[in-house]
Amino acid sequence: MRPSKKTLKVDVLDSRLRGNDNQKHSLLAFYLRLHKNLGINLALMATHFTFPSHLLSTDGLSRGDTLELLALASDYYTRNQATDKKHSILKGRTLINLFFENSTRTRTSFELAGKRLGMDVINIAAANSSAKKGESLIDTAKTLSAMQLDALVIRHASSGAARLIAGYVACPVINAGDGSHQHPTQALLDAFTILHHKGNIEGLTVAICGDIAHSRVARSNLYLLQTLGAKVRLIAPPQLLPNTPEQFGAEIHYSMKTGLKDADVVMMLRVQTERVQGPIMASVREYFHLYGLDKTKLAFARPDALVLHPGPMNRGVEIASDVADDVERSGVLDQVEAGVAVRQAILESIVRS
Ligand code: ASP
Ligand code: ASP
Repeated sequence: MRPSKKTLKVDVLDSRLRGNDNQKHSLLAFYLRLHKNLGINLALMATHFTFPSHLLSTDGLSRGDTLELLALASDYYTRNQATDKKHSILKGRTLINLFFENSTRTRTSFELAGKRLGMDVINIAAANSSAKKGESLIDTAKTLSAMQLDALVIRHASSGAARLIAGYVACPVINAGDGSHQHPTQALLDAFTILHHKGNIEGLTVAICGDIAHSRVARSNLYLLQTLGAKVRLIAPPQLLPNTPEQFGAEIHYSMKTGLKDADVVMMLRVQTERVQGPIMASVREYFHLYGLDKTKLAFARPDALVLHPGPMNRGVEIASDVADDVERSGVLDQVEAGVAVRQAILESIVRS
């Protein structure tokens, strides 16, 4: 829904939001509902909370800081629907997107986010970088850092790469995906999308389904959703679960029927064929039959269950086209839209603090 011209100015630092995290959660949910159902623009002015100096993982993000970040993102979400989307809040600052793995949506999303805040944005694809000439990751990062960056976004196929880099550069580092480890901005945009659709996260049942073992999206969401008070279920065949899945504090299910029962949100994952050598499953047809989300399996969840997928989707493997494209049920494109706003909020918070 396009927002009306009405704008509700809400200072999230006002006394109500200085309350405890439960109060923040319900107030933010209330504002998001106003925005969604009534089309009232929100001008949330939250800029002074303490965001970490790097964003490497969702582990350790507090509930209060996450909610305040999402409040700031909801301000950008509204402003992104205006004709002129550009601001000058980070004018003159430089952002480098250093991508050692292919990406379309995440790179574009960070690029748009930086540009909409007035930053100069440079994209470096590994294929064109000195990494191909044998330069080490640390040398690449130190070289870029010497150019007086204000933020470095990094994606790398090795788990831990973002944390390693953060120890060598002088600017904030944002992890845009490191191997099977973490993809914190994806989890934050997923949380935003859930809040936007459902009005709250606390107490919801979220089923994360598919290749949990190799998914950084699953790991980031497990931490963040539980921090925000959701009940998380993991649904996967045994070979696509991590070795000790109990460590994550989620319910484990091997069947979509039991795992999806009464779920409020169904988060599907792509099978990460690039992270293993050799075939990851015996048969795509069998995988789809057992774990692919089609209308029949979706019927196990609540009738208003929201379907999410981080993209890129493999239709006919983990999700059927009629579910992916069902505008009543699928929040996939809303996730993409939320992604830009959430990354604007992250850049603003991290660069200015
Ligand atoms: N995995 C990619 C990303 O997150 C998806 C894409 O390239 O579209 O950016
Ligand atoms: N785009 C997400 C990622 O980069 C999910 C995926 O690629 O399957 O992790």
